[in-house]
Amino acid sequence: MEKNHVRIPMNGTVLELIEGDITELEVEAIVNAANEKLELGSGVAGAIKKKGGPTIQAECKRIGGTGVGTAVITGAGELDAKHVIHAVGPKMGDGDEDRKLSSAVRSALALADRHGLKSIALPAISTGVYGFPVDRCARITLTEIHRYLQGGTKLERVVVCLFGDDSFKTFRQELRRGFR
Ligand code: ADP
Repeated sequence: MEKNHVRIPMNGTVLELIEGDITELEVEAIVNAANEKLELGSGVAGAIKKKGGPTIQAECKRIGGTGVGTAVITGAGELDAKHVIHAVGPKMGDGDEDRKLSSAVRSALALADRHGLKSIALPAISTGVYGFPVDRCARITLTEIHRYLQGGTKLERVVVCLFGDDSFKTFRQELRRGFR
């Protein structure tokens, strides 16, 4: 069905790269590339808002906000997923971006684990409105997922969902480079 799809086993979990729309995936949780105020605007958040309906934003409003590099969880409204995990990546130029992005990815995975979820899909956090280079995001995101999966997890499936052929190919290239 999907033209661009890679699947590799990683320490008992399956890591997948899929080109597509994250709101269409059959996973228990999808990750929103959120902002600190948890306001659903454009990009991934816009797609989540449009397809998920108003309850997600309402829940975000009750939570109030979360810092860069952290994540919070809400329901998923009318989406197929059960939860949306709102992870806040860094804005390019704000400093210490790599560490903040690693932290956002790790926080999202850990939150899924804490809720006993088996599958999660993440977008290329910070590479849209926040201006982070895709190749750097690919290296950091995949390194952090790899590291997380070495530490013991109940997650069976971790998907990185890429919007467009260019992003997909950049992530696939980084994956092929391997981890050291
Ligand atoms: P940020 O503000 O963290 O940069 P964005 O949502 O603007 O977040 O973009 C993050 C990445 O997600 C970008 O590469 C963008 O192309 C991609 N993207 C946008 N919409 C979707 C979607 N529906 N599914 C998956 N990825 C998406």
